[in-house]
Amino acid sequence: MSQKRVYTFGNGQAEGNATMREVLGGKGANLAEMNHIGVPVPPGFTITTDTCNEYYEVGQEKIVELLTAEVDAAVAHTEKLMNCKFGDPKNPLLVSVRSGARASMPGMMDTILNLGLNDEVAAGMVEKTGNPHFVYDSYRRFVQMYGDVVMGLKPENKEDIDPFEAIIEKVKEEQGVVLDKDLSVESLKKLVELFKKAIKDQTGQDFPTDPKDQLWGAICAVFRSWMNDRAILYRKMEGIPDEWGTAVSVMAMVFGNMGDTSATGVCFSRDAGNGENLFNGEYLINAQGEDVVAGIRTPQQITKIGSQRWAERAGISEEERVAKYPSMEEAMPELYKELDALQDKLEKHYHDMQDMEFTVQEGKLWFLQTRNGKRTGTAMVKIAMDLLHEGMIDEKTALLRCEPNKLDELLHPVFDKAALKAAKVITQGLPASPGAACGQIVFHADDAEAWHANGHKVIMVRIETSPEDLAGMSAAEGILTARGGMTSHAAVVARGMGKCCVSGAGEIHVDYKTKTVEIGGVVYKEGDYISLNGTTGQVYAGQIATKEAEVSGDFKELMDLCDKYTKMEIRTNADTPHDAQVARNFGAKGIGLTRTEHMFFEGEKIKAMREMILADSVEGREKALAKLLPFQTEDFYGILKAMDGCHVNIRLLDPPLHEFVPADDNVQGQKDMAAEMGVTVEEIQRRVHSLHENNPMLGHRGCRLGITFPEITAMQTRAILTAACRLKKEGCDPHPEIMVPLIGIMYELKQQKEIIQRVAKEVFAEQGVEIEFEIGTMIEIPRAALTADRIATEAEYFSFGTNDLTQMTFGYSRDDVASFLPDYLEKKILKADPFQVLDQKGVGQLIKMAVEKGRAVRPGMRTGICGEHGGEPSSVKFCAKVGMNYASCSPFRVPIARLAAAQAAVEG
Ligand code: ADP
Ligand code: MG
Ligand code: MG
Repeated sequence: MSQKRVYTFGNGQAEGNATMREVLGGKGANLAEMNHIGVPVPPGFTITTDTCNEYYEVGQEKIVELLTAEVDAAVAHTEKLMNCKFGDPKNPLLVSVRSGARASMPGMMDTILNLGLNDEVAAGMVEKTGNPHFVYDSYRRFVQMYGDVVMGLKPENKEDIDPFEAIIEKVKEEQGVVLDKDLSVESLKKLVELFKKAIKDQTGQDFPTDPKDQLWGAICAVFRSWMNDRAILYRKMEGIPDEWGTAVSVMAMVFGNMGDTSATGVCFSRDAGNGENLFNGEYLINAQGEDVVAGIRTPQQITKIGSQRWAERAGISEEERVAKYPSMEEAMPELYKELDALQDKLEKHYHDMQDMEFTVQEGKLWFLQTRNGKRTGTAMVKIAMDLLHEGMIDEKTALLRCEPNKLDELLHPVFDKAALKAAKVITQGLPASPGAACGQIVFHADDAEAWHANGHKVIMVRIETSPEDLAGMSAAEGILTARGGMTSHAAVVARGMGKCCVSGAGEIHVDYKTKTVEIGGVVYKEGDYISLNGTTGQVYAGQIATKEAEVSGDFKELMDLCDKYTKMEIRTNADTPHDAQVARNFGAKGIGLTRTEHMFFEGEKIKAMREMILADSVEGREKALAKLLPFQTEDFYGILKAMDGCHVNIRLLDPPLHEFVPADDNVQGQKDMAAEMGVTVEEIQRRVHSLHENNPMLGHRGCRLGITFPEITAMQTRAILTAACRLKKEGCDPHPEIMVPLIGIMYELKQQKEIIQRVAKEVFAEQGVEIEFEIGTMIEIPRAALTADRIATEAEYFSFGTNDLTQMTFGYSRDDVASFLPDYLEKKILKADPFQVLDQKGVGQLIKMAVEKGRAVRPGMRTGICGEHGGEPSSVKFCAKVGMNYASCSPFRVPIARLAAAQAAVEG
């Protein structure tokens, strides 16, 4: 079968287009599209993502065979458009070989520039351009990249600097210069030789001289980079499937390093940090693409306003700025105008904020990439709302543009203003990714992971970050780097993760060997606390107090838009009035789950609770329960009041009783308890022992407690309804729902319901008022789902307890799953942890069936979810699709669930 593997582009034409990102990767599809809309792009071709998958099936030799004819033809196409020839010393074509997956994975895979150079080609290029510095600068860059990416010459230890950088440092020292760009032609030639020698010494292989060999080596290396550790980790974090593969784009080089009329840069059509509608970016004169992001030279700003803001932060005077660090707008005004017009064109074409790469070769502007830019949660919301106001997108699109989980950042605490004023600024860097972070200093990615795993909050401090640092960055609260601009790796990745980042803090001196950083004359060690303000770029010594975020401005507008479209309400899981209030502020419309057991642990309550458990007669228990009653009534009063006017679903006692008494090995606890209660230690131990169960999660818990000890159900009902009656008398509007947990058999519910109704009558008579309330159940045992039609004859509503339902459907103990889950994920038996992401195929089927069966008996019956899944976007969407009335989640996930629910409605 002849299958098309290669798609060409150039000169305003292309075989692909923007809709083909699955085939051509995002980069390849957009390179094609830019040709169609008149944006200047160097010609080239893209090899499909499927070919990458084929590579993994058939291997290098076979894939080269399969590709040869098409690649040869595509190279010829590029040669024709560029009017030069690959490998021809007199008139050579050089190319870049670039990775690019369906979803953008910035910097995770490899790219090689200046490919096609060897000694002869270099000599020929010198002749042609008369610019030996440019030629040997390109050559040494090529050998360096190829040696690293294709031939695998890398640092051996994490403390070591890159072997190529080590050689550069040595040669610079010999020549007596500081900056790479000041290296002489002789030094550059020497670098090429030293690099090749180092590669040979360490890998045993000669550097390939035939450009064709170089090309195949690079193409296959890019395929391989799909499976490098950092790409795998990035995919795991972003939920990108391994099967997608990367495309490979090969394109003619354009050179930003040909002298002072050449430059390279990265720019954004809006601010990726705060969303401001302001074109911005960074560029470097006489440099190549990687230089801007690698953080080796500090880049200059593209726009004048950006440059002025930058100078102000850095404490640089206007005269000095203009003389030493002019913006592109000032230094290359004509080109700037062209760039500005094209960025605007691209944003209008894609209807979204663009992240673009460009190069100027001797006064001519070329675009090398455009993509929908990564952004922080704050920027995501502002940009969506701004685009909506500007009429570029409609309301539904605006909702779909926002990623629910990214709202998390907007809910994080911010520095307390007063505490911030009192804190000491120790240095200033660039505000690379906003937010407040404080933690202990660590210097290496693996340390960040290890410290984090041990429960520490850490700030990762680096000279600069590289894609290898991904896992560490993810584990850190924030990132501080000495080098690198607003488009450096650290900045881009941090913004994508929503991590606070301060980059380019030039005054800090990091020493990896001693694990110290010197800032303003003070030495900070690993483990010392610092705080970062990613919104201003300021760095503080020690820890600074934070306060809770609030929903306002664009965020509020987005949330209002959610309410306009959603078909499902979001409630919260809350056990205290404070949590209920927090959730209400985030837009919760009620409580989906109040766990009463948490209320028994404080002070006097636990004593009364233990007394109840210890009692061996109904009278004894009732006496103890009578002590608990006022506490419970107070608790419910507080919660019902905080949620006045809204439904509050209260679950009766659920956990096994042994959780309330001192365990077998806690002899001191048992002694204290004995003294407290005036009985012998033996008595306590006997009772503790009798509560022991082999499998408590499947034991005496949930409604089984209420069946054995009806007086517990009675006391809790009395507390709930007494509190509600009191509130009603005070002019409030309480709506309690009483939920019986862990039902598997209809009669369990029927009997519990009788108790609840009997007590309700008594309370209403005593209080002289009646309130409306409902009695429902949790569906969390598979049998309950299977017999939902029978259970619905008694239950007035269903609440899906998906934690237990998942546990019992899979037969996985939630507390023990960690021992094998990683293997299941690794071996792809499971796609995700079913306790985090609802298993729609299995558990979901039970839910869907129960909703339908329940409503068949009780039309329009209210259903909701209250497990952990109620705050996870894909699970929330599933609940919306099966027609649930509400999802309930922890207070800080309420906005996330609201957005997911609205998206489900829009997606239909
Ligand atoms: P990444 O995905 O890591 O950004 P890219 O493939 O975009 O990798 O390339 C890295 C850098 O090299 C970018 O700055 C890009 O603009 C530059 N670059 C890639 N191809 C060319 C080319 N043909 N000419 C000039 N610069 C290029
Ligand atoms: Mg790029
Ligand atoms: Mg449960």
